[in-house]
Amino acid sequence: PCTDFDMAYFHSYSHVGIHEEMIKDRVRTETYRAAIMQHQNYIAGKVVVDVGCGTGILSIFCAQAGAKRVYAVDASDIAVQANEVVKANNLSDTVIVLHGRIEDVEIDEEVDVIISEWMGYMLLYESMLGSIIIARDRWLKSGGLILPSNATLYMAPITHPDRYSESIEFWRNVYGIDMSAMLPLAKQCAFEEPCVETITGENVLTWPHVVKHVDCYTITNHELESVATRFKFKSMMRAPLHGFAFWFDVEFSDPAILPTENNPQSSIMESPNEHSSTDGSQRKKRANPSQALVLSTAPEDPPTHWQQTLIYFYDPIEVEQDQIIEGAVTLSQSKENARFMNIHLEYASGGRSFVKESVMR
Ligand code: SAH
Repeated sequence: PCTDFDMAYFHSYSHVGIHEEMIKDRVRTETYRAAIMQHQNYIAGKVVVDVGCGTGILSIFCAQAGAKRVYAVDASDIAVQANEVVKANNLSDTVIVLHGRIEDVEIDEEVDVIISEWMGYMLLYESMLGSIIIARDRWLKSGGLILPSNATLYMAPITHPDRYSESIEFWRNVYGIDMSAMLPLAKQCAFEEPCVETITGENVLTWPHVVKHVDCYTITNHELESVATRFKFKSMMRAPLHGFAFWFDVEFSDPAILPTENNPQSSIMESPNEHSSTDGSQRKKRANPSQALVLSTAPEDPPTHWQQTLIYFYDPIEVEQDQIIEGAVTLSQSKENARFMNIHLEYASGGRSFVKESVMR
């Protein structure tokens, strides 16, 4: 059922600004275009569904790659503009804009390709992946292509002294006045909820941990209700630990080659290593791993509109080089609004342990 929360969510996509921000994110949009062109042999002459087409940009890229038909689906009123854009580019014979939820629209044929830009902050915020799963299970032909093919959410401990001093230390001396009495409120207001901000590789204390790997061909909605992992980091330097950063990447691989008599091993290799991602082994899941395009939102890579998501501690922890930082994190869909995300974080270092609950709204 379409809830009031869904209505508000789709309404937020009827404004031009959000589409402008996404389209101007060249890392995002050009990686998608390159992935579509790289998979031209899967798209030319084929039927595509674009889950959440927005202004229609990815649908038009697919038409340019030679798709026979593209179903461009969006529940937001932006679909009206998408339809105008399609007409103005003389693509009405190829691109069929359907204004409705993917869960509700009718498509009377199986599709060869599903494309979607579904990723939210911290990958899973917005819970749009569930709609890709529904489209996949309803319409995708066996052996069909999903772009992107897989996604990985990472986390790492970070230090960010500038951010801490600008929001917190600032109150210690304000025009010569001791305003330390403001500190508890300042900490609460600045750090209660996750922050979407850009950091750099220099803020990161050690190699990231894989929180969740998503194979878009096999992931289920049930698996997404709650994602939990334990982590154990060893700081590579002495620094004040201010919190954890989360980021993700998505990969545009070919569909896996299924086992046949000539190819008993198939191309699916070992599952991703959940404890270390230093060797990139989680990227070798599908055919052509070396050529797979990756859209990364990592701190060391060029910035995107997703930036990184930071969960700050109220007070930093001074860590020594090689000090262990361990704990667990659970990301779960909020009961109140499935598009919100509850984050339960437990962490310990240097003999002290903490729990932090936050909500991404
Ligand atoms: N594909 C576009 C827009 C991506 S933003 C681009 O790349 O620029 C995601 C879009 O998905 C939004 O416009 C939102 O309204 C739409 N969307 C999210 N969930 C949906 C659903 N269940 N059914 C239809 N559209 C959906």
